[in-house]
Amino acid sequence: MKGIAHVAYPGGGTVLPARSAYERQVLVEHVTHRARRSTVVRLELDGRRWSITAADSVDRSECAKCLRRVSVSGTRPGDADAYCVSCLVGLPAAVARTLRLRSRAAG
Ligand SMILES: [Zn+2]
Repeated sequence: MKGIAHVAYPGGGTVLPARSAYERQVLVEHVTHRARRSTVVRLELDGRRWSITAADSVDRSECAKCLRRVSVSGTRPGDADAYCVSCLVGLPAAVARTLRLRSRAAG
């Protein structure tokens, strides 16, 4: 279903709304947090299935879309490229940056 994210990881899982940019940013933070604590996080969103993993700090991968080097990235079956979590949930990098700045200012 579009706009609904299914997140699964060893020992648990959750369903999160992913309609607005804000909801997608919350999803990015949740998935990133989980990926750093699990071996792999499975995400199903907008008809796509992703496997998201965290690398150790020296082994960052480059996002195929925004070209940032990130420690948490996702791949999907049949696609050799890795994407950062913001790009794979469809959150434009500019929006992600604005939301991060805003939440930092609020905190
Ligand atoms: Zn990216």
